Amino acid sequence: MKMSLKIFLSMCFCAIASVLIALTILLAQNYDINIKNENKKTTADFNNIVNNLENDYYKYDFNDKELLKVYNDYYSQNNLKFTYINNGKIEYSASEKVDEYITGDILETDSSKFLSKVISVEDATYLLVSTAFKSNEEIKIVCIKDISYINKNQIETRNFGILIAIAMAFCSATLAYVLSNSLTQSLKDITIASEKISQNDYDIKLKESNTEFGKVAVAFNKMSEDIRNRTEDLVKENESKQAFMDNLSHEMNTPLTTIKGYSEYLERANVSPEEQVKYLQYIQQESTRIRDIYKKLLLLSYKRESDLEILKQDFRPIINTIETVANEKVKEKNIKLTFNNSIETLECDKTLVQIAVLNLINNAMNVSEDNSQIIVNCYEAEKKIIEVIDFGIGISEENIEKILEPFYRVDKARSRENGGAGLGLSICKNIMEMHKGEIKIESKLGEGSKFILIFP
Ligand code: ADP
Repeated sequence: MKMSLKIFLSMCFCAIASVLIALTILLAQNYDINIKNENKKTTADFNNIVNNLENDYYKYDFNDKELLKVYNDYYSQNNLKFTYINNGKIEYSASEKVDEYITGDILETDSSKFLSKVISVEDATYLLVSTAFKSNEEIKIVCIKDISYINKNQIETRNFGILIAIAMAFCSATLAYVLSNSLTQSLKDITIASEKISQNDYDIKLKESNTEFGKVAVAFNKMSEDIRNRTEDLVKENESKQAFMDNLSHEMNTPLTTIKGYSEYLERANVSPEEQVKYLQYIQQESTRIRDIYKKLLLLSYKRESDLEILKQDFRPIINTIETVANEKVKEKNIKLTFNNSIETLECDKTLVQIAVLNLINNAMNVSEDNSQIIVNCYEAEKKIIEVIDFGIGISEENIEKILEPFYRVDKARSRENGGAGLGLSICKNIMEMHKGEIKIESKLGEGSKFILIFP
């Protein structure tokens, strides 16, 4: 059953039940009050009448039923009748149908008290009030008053109350239905939105407001946005893992195919000793390439913090080692390598920093003309910075964004010639992440590049 219908029906039931219970209590109370008032009034009237009767008792022969009839006729205009009992025997009956109720308790009265009881005879209700003559306690007078009007009033009031109960139940249930519908609408919206999100549709937005549901909508929309971002991140991560694997298998496959081809050729063909040397050199070159890729992959996966040795240490010996190794390399191209260092200490893993900076210098050398210049600046400006500047071919804006990705090479043939597999800069990036730092690139095509390592 729909929630709004459930609320509608339960509100109907509750409203009708509560109004009927209240009505029943009110009617019962009202009935008691009416009976009490009637009793009081009748007793007061009856007191006077009995006094008169008692006076007349001595004046007239009271056994004369005519006198009692006169009394009855007179007071019956006021809806009062009297039954006269002498020594427990009804001598004059005002109403025969009531006579059978004039027994027991009601006759236990005396002149000092008025006893009363309410009886129902056929469709009528009567109030009986009894007392006795002061001069003769054996003579009891029972006053009979028809109070059926109280019952009729009760029935009218009850019917009216039932009508009001139904009207109230209908109004409150309709109101509850409208309200519950608007509440359940919000729940329906959330259900639809959840279903869409489960189907990777994040475009749905719930209406935000300051109400309770509006606040739920704010939280829901934020959650949906977070899920969208995380899903997109996961997809990207997955794609880049897949691309990494594709590139890796390609990079490994090329030298392996070459090695296989040359070794098969050497085995089969009638090859001269000079050619043998040449082909063996090729095989060696490709084997070295595979070993380099393997080493670089190891570095790339070198991520566990427990493997790191990040210590605050004297930076000068680190940069001196880099300078010595780099100078050896640039010799062949006669490149001028300038080092400017003002950093005294650096919190780092010495070996990793050397690998990163030498990688950058190596790249700079590969893209620089003979006799050109490479500058390495190390200084402190809020953070500790190592810059490697070259005046080589430069990098286009489009490529700047990509060259940090593993296996990405701008000029594949040239890079391969230099023994590169497109892993050097990814390794630098990885090393800087391990140091909680970053790598930035500034470059202009044809003018040169600046690679900046920023330490925290
Ligand atoms: P590789 O090991 O093949 O050199 P890297 O990740 O170090 O790979 O570099 C990726 C690509 O970025 C290189 O193929 C090269 O084309 C380009 N690159 C790197 N350094 C420079 C530089 N200083 N100037 C211009 N291009 C560069």
